[in-house]
Parts: sequence; C-alpha cells; structure tokens
Amino acid sequence: MLEHFFQCPHCWEEISMLLDMSVKRQTYIEDCEICCNPIEISAIFEENELTVFAANSIEQ
Ligand SMILES: [Zn+2]
Repeated sequence: MLEHFFQCPHCWEEISMLLDMSVKRQTYIEDCEICCNPIEISAIFEENELTVFAANSIEQ
C-alpha cells in the first residue's frame, strides 16, 4: 500500500489515503477525513510507480 498526500477538493486541507498498488487502474469514492465530503479518487500505477492521480469533488 502507498500512502499518498493530496489536497481535498472540498476543504483544501492536506489529507492522505492508502492506495492499493496491486490494482493498476482504480477509481473509487472515499470520504474526506476532515470535511467528510465524498471525493472521487483516480489512480494509475505503472511498474509500482504512481503515474496518474486525481482527486475530484462529487456533487452531493
Ligand atoms: Zn475535505
């Protein structure tokens, strides 16, 4: 697992999430640990390197 730090698109606080490096392409929704708003996480791994990461806000 890789811990990745990024800014929440809702509250702009720096938060971290654990990414499963065994899944090459993943998109899922997780709640921000600070503001509890849902964030759509997209991550792509190539040769165990995180090459693409995006955190987008979800309209509730
Ligand atoms: Zn937040």
